Amino acid sequence: MTTPMAAPYDLIIVGGGPAGMTAAIYGARAKMRTLLIEKARHGGQAATTEEVENWPGAGKTTGPELMAQFRSHTEHLGVELIKEDVAGVDLTGEVKVIETRKGNRYEARAVILSPGAHPRTLGVKGEGPLRGKGVSYCATCDADFFTALDVVVVGNGDAAVEEALYLTRFCNSVTLIIIHPFGTMDANKASQERLFQNDKIRLVWHSVIEEIKGDGLVESVVLKNLGTGELTEMETNGVFIFIGTVPNTEFLKESGLALDERGYIIADSETMATNIDGVFAAGDARRKWLRQIVTAASDGAIAACAAEKYLAEEEHLRHEVLEPSEPVLAVFWSPASQQSLDVLQWAEQCNAQAGGLFKLARIDLYKSTRLAERFGVEQVPTVLLFRNGQVVDRLDANFDDFCHWLTERTQAVR
Ligand SMILES: Cc1cc2nc3c(=O)[nH]c(=O)nc-3n(C[C@H](O)[C@H](O)[C@H](O)COP(=O)(O)OP(=O)(O)OC[C@H]3O[C@@H](n4cnc5c(N)ncnc54)[C@H](O)[C@@H]3O)c2cc1C
Repeated sequence: MTTPMAAPYDLIIVGGGPAGMTAAIYGARAKMRTLLIEKARHGGQAATTEEVENWPGAGKTTGPELMAQFRSHTEHLGVELIKEDVAGVDLTGEVKVIETRKGNRYEARAVILSPGAHPRTLGVKGEGPLRGKGVSYCATCDADFFTALDVVVVGNGDAAVEEALYLTRFCNSVTLIIIHPFGTMDANKASQERLFQNDKIRLVWHSVIEEIKGDGLVESVVLKNLGTGELTEMETNGVFIFIGTVPNTEFLKESGLALDERGYIIADSETMATNIDGVFAAGDARRKWLRQIVTAASDGAIAACAAEKYLAEEEHLRHEVLEPSEPVLAVFWSPASQQSLDVLQWAEQCNAQAGGLFKLARIDLYKSTRLAERFGVEQVPTVLLFRNGQVVDRLDANFDDFCHWLTERTQAVR
């Protein structure tokens, strides 16, 4: 195993889709030394779609074009981009370790995980052996191979409809296999209308594929009608499958990171913080309601700002509280609590009486909720006494006797 970097990065981002690249842009603009690791081509799933009509301000564009703009913006700001597949992580320490399949090890003080998702498979006979031989999960990538041929599309959500429409530009015919009974689809109404108006598209309702057949290349599919149970075989040259996605979080399974039952990363929807300090999640790999380019970018921006705040807090904590050689009196306060403002003042006065033995650290509770949680502080004022980075005493009531309390501690720490 090699170690390419001696000093840890401020921020490592895993996954270079819209979420990761936006995080990188925000990271670089916040002057964090940022590394973006992407295993394939930058742009992720967004780079596989030919039509993007909902990226604000762009009107109508293509996924590859939009993602090329994201990438050049990222590079322009000086983000380091490398192409490697992240195979394992050790996120629990203060310095996080990212290991790649090549055997390289990268270190950072904060990490944003934005590995996105990949298409769900049908799991039927013939699908695996014929993948890449007529079975596809990306119309943009493969439509060209099916020029003037007949294909089926499995699925009925937005992606399936969009991809079916795109395929009609190349194919002779496109048959959509819809699991729901006649008239019911998951796609939005506008897409459905475009679908119904396209005379190259045929709809097969209330049906699923039981088997994909072919000797080296797809030749037919066996369809099952869910209403009648009837099986029919239909000739086709290709099968495009769009039945949802699965998060790319396999490499995180043993990391201690909280994942939901489907493998999506659980993160705070306001800050993108995960259950591990200094680790944030963004984009489609996160458990969330709407998976789009704009929401991935939004997650990335928030995660990078939260990572910056985390690093600043950690730096402040290390410098002001954990590392000083003298005992530290950390006062958790809030501008909304007059009593906490009084305690700040008393701390200064009582410390002066004690010969300035203590270093005073002021911690605003509402700006530093994470630190408060870490040290079990639930209210202001609270005073923690630190010695060599450890909490050795605390006071969260009876402040009238503050100077007396401090004098007693003075004897203990002298
Ligand atoms: C066919 C299709 C059409 C779509 N059309 C639209 C649309 O028109 N408008 C819209 O807003 N959204 C659209 N979407 C959704 C949109 O593309 C996604 O929501 C968005 O790309 C999610 O961004 P992301 O950065 O979270 O993840 P992704 O785009 O999935 O990117 C994740 C990246 O992480 C990389 N990665 C994964 N694991 C690792 C690892 N271990 N090591 C290193 N790198 C790793 C992947 O290679 C990938 O590049 C479409 C999606 C599809 C599939």
